[in-house]
Amino acid sequence: MITQNEEKLHEECGVFGVISPKAADVAQITYYGLYALQHRGQESCGIVVNDDGVFASHKNLGLVGEVFSHSVLSNMPCGRMALGHVRYGTTGAATYSNCQPIEVNHLKGKLAVAHNGNLSNALALREALELSGAIFHSTSDTETIAYLIIRERLKTQSIEMAVSRAMDFLEGAYSLVLMSSQKLIAVRDPMGFRPLCIGKMVDEAGETTYVAASESCALHAVGAEFVRDVEPGEIVVFDANGVLSIKDHCGKACKKLCIFEYIYFARPDSLIDGVSVHAARRRAGEILAEKFLADADLVVGVPDSGLDAALGYANVSGIPYGIGLIKNKYIGRTFIAPGQDNRLDLVKMKLSPVINEIRGKRIVLIDDSLVRGTTCRRLITLLREAGAKEIHMRISAPPFLHPCYYGTDIDSEDHLIATMHTVSEICTLIGADTLAYLPLESLPALACGNGYCSACFDGVYPTEVPSDTRKDRFERKLSEIK
Ligand code: SF4
Repeated sequence: MITQNEEKLHEECGVFGVISPKAADVAQITYYGLYALQHRGQESCGIVVNDDGVFASHKNLGLVGEVFSHSVLSNMPCGRMALGHVRYGTTGAATYSNCQPIEVNHLKGKLAVAHNGNLSNALALREALELSGAIFHSTSDTETIAYLIIRERLKTQSIEMAVSRAMDFLEGAYSLVLMSSQKLIAVRDPMGFRPLCIGKMVDEAGETTYVAASESCALHAVGAEFVRDVEPGEIVVFDANGVLSIKDHCGKACKKLCIFEYIYFARPDSLIDGVSVHAARRRAGEILAEKFLADADLVVGVPDSGLDAALGYANVSGIPYGIGLIKNKYIGRTFIAPGQDNRLDLVKMKLSPVINEIRGKRIVLIDDSLVRGTTCRRLITLLREAGAKEIHMRISAPPFLHPCYYGTDIDSEDHLIATMHTVSEICTLIGADTLAYLPLESLPALACGNGYCSACFDGVYPTEVPSDTRKDRFERKLSEIK
């Protein structure tokens, strides 16, 4: 079996929550929301429905369409609230115990938690909690967050107060949607690494259903109107009394939205912190054309996330935009992949050149990232076999040089081609005629005034990071256990 985009980076998760003024088929609404967020995680998914304080859930490994069959979905109860999650785990293995939302019963009630991001102090927090007697069931840092919130809840008057106090201990990336018996709560970390937005649907009686989601594309999917992004550090509480915004943690840190949300992770039809993802990608292509113009006949984007930048490159350069590659949209998790030695066949299965468009032409090929370079080399071989005369590779991101600690699976420099080779060496290795990356100094043009994190490109981490990598930590833990 394959994971999609083996050589692409993976986002950790997508979260979705809904609260209706009366009992409704909130599981169905959440199902639609998760379907729209599927690109953010394909390992596992889950939905928890709150039926008058009674939680009913279903979660499992697999895609939303696989886990939620018609019979599963129709057996879920109606309720006033629901919480959903799609996961690609960067901490914690792909096991059932790491599926989300996490549900916990405690002295004062119930809590369900859906989390997108990674805590940069997860290991230190967990070790401290374990030393004080905590026992964890999963290896995901979401359980640490849930534990801290409940610990504070036992000492405070309300769940939102507990969330605010728990945030004092958390560092790194967390966009959360939480559900207690009475409340739905959306939380974004003070740096706003991961996106989170809210929307609403007003029915004929004038009653409002509120929705919180990782991306605005999920609001559109359920028929909700975009209201606004959750501010970095903000806690938004939805209950029978309406909506309450708590800003105790706002403004405590500079905004550090993950710039890779604009470059690759998010869906192009989403709006994040006031910026259209499509427009940001298109701008990246325009900059590449302004700075690295190639003498060529056709601009081709690598489907899907290279297409917007290719459009921008074509517009500025005046070189025609063409559909030179077709993606097989039906290759999914059940596809039996060829062995490691035979990846060429896998690339061929996923992407196919449109020979009439390609033959005899000098191609500008645009992709959003270059991680190990293997797929890119095979893609270029495919295009040359299809008759391309020249290939000028343009990457709509700077070179990856550093690991990410905030919810992306760049866990060590070891596999990053740009850490081992110069641009000209990489160009030779992938078999292109020329190669250029988006310059680091062009990133502000994508973020349009939003503060952003670009640590995987420049090594400037917005928080303290562990001095060892996840791999080191894992190996250390393993030897401790042995
Ligand atoms: Fe995003 Fe890179 Fe920062 Fe990770 S290190 S949050 S991938 S910009």
